[in-house]
Amino acid sequence: MGSAIQNICLGTCPNCNKGKIFEKKGLLYKMRMPKMHTNCTVCGYKFEKEPGYFYGAMYVSYMLTVGEAIGLYFILSYIFGFGDNFQIFLIIAAAMIGLSFFNMRISRTIWIHLFKN
Ligand SMILES: [Zn+2]
Repeated sequence: MGSAIQNICLGTCPNCNKGKIFEKKGLLYKMRMPKMHTNCTVCGYKFEKEPGYFYGAMYVSYMLTVGEAIGLYFILSYIFGFGDNFQIFLIIAAAMIGLSFFNMRISRTIWIHLFKN
């Protein structure tokens, strides 16, 4: 049981909601990419339906990145009172690098859940 949003946050299979989509989360400081399971370990659901299936997930990732950057800009300038746009830019750039693996995982997870049929 649980909503699609919950499953996306947990990174679980859209079919059975039990198996994990990613085997490893990936480690940015080791430049190790998140590793996906080919099939769900619980129900056998195939995550990458066809070669190139995840190209579309890049658009999801792009939207997430833009959304996060805009959100961060407002937080930094209005809540923390940063006035220097260059400083803000540097912080956002660093945050986007830090979030890149997270964005990759979450965008693929969203993509899998969007097109689960
Ligand atoms: Zn499954």
